[in-house]
Amino acid sequence: MTIQSEKGTSLSSEVNIDPSASNGKVGNTKIDNKIDKEILLEFGGPVGVTAMMVFFPFLMYYFWVCLEFHEGKLLVPAAFTYEAFKDVFYDEFWVRITTDAFPTVYAAQIYLGSTLLSAILAYVMPGPIIQGLPVPSLNGETASIVDRVWLGWLSSRRYACMTATNEIANYGNAIGVAFVWNLSGHSYLCNGLYSWYATLALSAILHYTGLFLLTDIIDNFGPIMSVAIIFGVVTTLLTYIITVATGAQHRMSGYLMYDIFMGAPLNPRIGRLDLKIWAEIRVPWVILFYVSLSAALKQYEVHGYVSAPTAFMVMAHFLYVNACMKGEECIPTTWDIFYEKWGFMLIFWNFAGVPFTYCHATLYLAKWDQIHGSPLTFSLPYIIFVYTLCLVGYYVWDTANSQKNRFRMQLAGTYIPRNTFPQLPWGTIKEPTYVRTEHGNLLLTSGWWGIARKIHYTGDLAMAISWGLIAGFESLIPYFYFVFFLVVLTHRVTRDMERCAKKYGKDWETYCERVPWIFVPGVY
Ligand code: NDP
Repeated sequence: MTIQSEKGTSLSSEVNIDPSASNGKVGNTKIDNKIDKEILLEFGGPVGVTAMMVFFPFLMYYFWVCLEFHEGKLLVPAAFTYEAFKDVFYDEFWVRITTDAFPTVYAAQIYLGSTLLSAILAYVMPGPIIQGLPVPSLNGETASIVDRVWLGWLSSRRYACMTATNEIANYGNAIGVAFVWNLSGHSYLCNGLYSWYATLALSAILHYTGLFLLTDIIDNFGPIMSVAIIFGVVTTLLTYIITVATGAQHRMSGYLMYDIFMGAPLNPRIGRLDLKIWAEIRVPWVILFYVSLSAALKQYEVHGYVSAPTAFMVMAHFLYVNACMKGEECIPTTWDIFYEKWGFMLIFWNFAGVPFTYCHATLYLAKWDQIHGSPLTFSLPYIIFVYTLCLVGYYVWDTANSQKNRFRMQLAGTYIPRNTFPQLPWGTIKEPTYVRTEHGNLLLTSGWWGIARKIHYTGDLAMAISWGLIAGFESLIPYFYFVFFLVVLTHRVTRDMERCAKKYGKDWETYCERVPWIFVPGVY
């Protein structure tokens, strides 16, 4: 088979891509070093990020009060007077938060217990080990700050025994158990799928034996959210302090609030637990799924059936969490892991923001049921439309991510075929076309990547809007996720395009000419 590049050169390969196509230059170049060290003040700089750190928790409580006590209507002061503001923000919000969302011991047990369980599973479950991208400014290594503090004495042995450690890990996985404490700098143990299956099995046992009823999650939503908010803030501060105290900070701006928001460490680890990946995929999406499952079980308990909209939220959240786990080996090469640091932005959003704001439609549906005595539902054609939109969005998102990540992993020689469920048609491009860059990386131009440059974002956004549409149009709050996500992804596109333009220069222009559309061909 011959793979034809956009510049007219060609190469041979049996089935997929020959790593030599990138001339062995993937990774750590001078330009990578320059970009990685560059300090940019994003999000309005120190003032903007300080406002966000105050505003986000407030916003979460605001939406919760509106959904829980006002049928999803947006509460605003009746007039621009002190009394009117006090009525809303003190008499209503403050009192509700301090009574109905007060962080109880039981809520802490649920949140911290499940978070601890997920960390333990991430440590002990088997799975393949893959190499992440070498980090340019650390000479191809990743930082391991927490490791250095808590397991300092182990570290020296770890670096000395790096190769041996990996071999042991591979051996451990081959027989189904991973024995090692540490992995080398940018190795990742991808045991998300087995951890996810174990979590599902364990939660089913706990629920059916009555040891822990999953319906308690939705019944204790406010207090659990408060625990998550506190946990997110405390973890942010502790991570910052430990990192700076051990001198392991990276790409610092010198503005305290900005550095707390963006983070100090790049890839903090406790032993072999990569905190950033764990917090990004093992915690938020799993909690989100359980919030929806809890609401569905509650509905079943009351009515003896689950409505189509509530079942939709369970399906939608299942698909998302399952995709993160089944394709975990693709995550280490994503922007968040390779470039972003671990600060308030990622920590708070993963521990509190994602699970407790992306579930607004679920909360709205649950509350509707409680108030009206029967579940909200819609006409069959509307239900079919929303299910279809979500499933089509999922297909595009899943296969587009998989096409690019597998292409890149094959080039880097790190590709491992996996049969994790579900493997969708067109997840791997057999005869890819690409733009070869002087940098050494190849930019894929076939499959979904020949249609639009960020088509995986389009699929993700289609899913996001379907999560709102399933709750109808009486409340705007279920659409918060879509609007917020649209802003996040649009901003991300700008940042990413600027970075790629610097990194690839003229080759990026060639690529953009070849694939002119960003989200939807013919539209944008
Ligand atoms: P991308 O997957 O778009 O990764 C961007 C990088 O991919 C670029 O910097 C470039 O890296 C490389 N790249 C770009 N174009 C090509 C190409 N044609 N061929 C090969 N490589 C290319 O970004 P993200 O990491 O932001 O997103 C990953 C997924 O996560 C998305 O599906 C997104 O929707 C999802 N996501 C979900 C969020 C949520 O809250 N639900 C939040 C954020 C993301 P290089 O420098 O190596 O060339």
